[in-house]
Amino acid sequence: MQRILITGGAGFIGSHVTDLLVAAGHEVAVVDNLSTGKREFVPAAAQFFPYDIKDQNTHELILDWGPQVIIHHAAQMSVQVSVGDPLLDARENILGSLNILQAAARGQVRKFIFASTGGAIYGDEAPVPARETDPPRPESPYGIAKLAVEHYLHFYHREHGIIPVSLRYANVYGPRQNGLGEAGVVAIFTEKFLAGEQPVINGDGLQTRDFTYVGDIARANLLALSHPEAGSFNVGTGRETDILTIYLQLQKLTGSPQGPVHGPAKPGEQRRSSLNYELAREVLGWQPQVSLEEGLSQTVAAFRGR
Ligand code: NAD
Repeated sequence: MQRILITGGAGFIGSHVTDLLVAAGHEVAVVDNLSTGKREFVPAAAQFFPYDIKDQNTHELILDWGPQVIIHHAAQMSVQVSVGDPLLDARENILGSLNILQAAARGQVRKFIFASTGGAIYGDEAPVPARETDPPRPESPYGIAKLAVEHYLHFYHREHGIIPVSLRYANVYGPRQNGLGEAGVVAIFTEKFLAGEQPVINGDGLQTRDFTYVGDIARANLLALSHPEAGSFNVGTGRETDILTIYLQLQKLTGSPQGPVHGPAKPGEQRRSSLNYELAREVLGWQPQVSLEEGLSQTVAAFRGR
């Protein structure tokens, strides 16, 4: 049993991680300002603090509560927002992370697990699927901030002995994802189909992403917890799926009569993306277990039940 503080634990991915931590018998505290998260996503067995990661009360909580491990998911997670307002993104994603890391260095924290990105860190020139040895060339302030935090983690490792594990997530989908924003095409399409509305595909729909089920992502955090080594690991399926395929599968699962409608392509949108997960398999013993078909069907069932 470990004492674990998770930031962003009321959010989409963080709440699934929190569920697994509680089920595994850990003592868990969640810090989340509920900007996009929901209080009801946090299981009753976890303590909840409605704090902002940028604030002094989060810093003090880390010193007072004394977690052995911090799992950091709180973030401004929209690439588009980061492009429009790089300063806002840096305040949340760089300075917010540093506030926690400074407290971690002063307290007893020995491990720091960071929700990084694989989809936004490698850039358009990287091979598909990308490997951790491919040079990261992020195209957005969001990706730049995630990479910056990975670099800071090396500093805190060297200087303070905190073991950093950066999990570079692919495109995560599943129950509790927010369909209101611009990210998360599965959630957006599912909500529209179930509401009887017409989802619109940006461009030709042949752009690809590596869709990875949230339960598999949460399990990678649990494996990282018990692993002693530092590192950055891709967490994805290695499989490319195009948006049109996602559309057609969700249309079938929701029983919607709406055929595909295409809008203008998003300028600058990455054409292809997928992550090689060989390193996570070798070192963490992680591999994806939920197929796209199964994951989409579980997602639609959960959205129907809301
Ligand atoms: P989310 O918006 O559901 O979760 C983020 C959580 O952090 C929310 O509960 C929000 O209320 C909280 N939060 C935001 N700013 C905060 C602040 N300043 N102080 C305290 N709490 C704050 O998004 P998500 O998809 O679950 O993303 C979780 C993490 O995973 C993020 O770091 C994101 O960058 C990363 N990530 C997500 C994906 C994806 O496909 N969803 C892919 C790669 C990486």
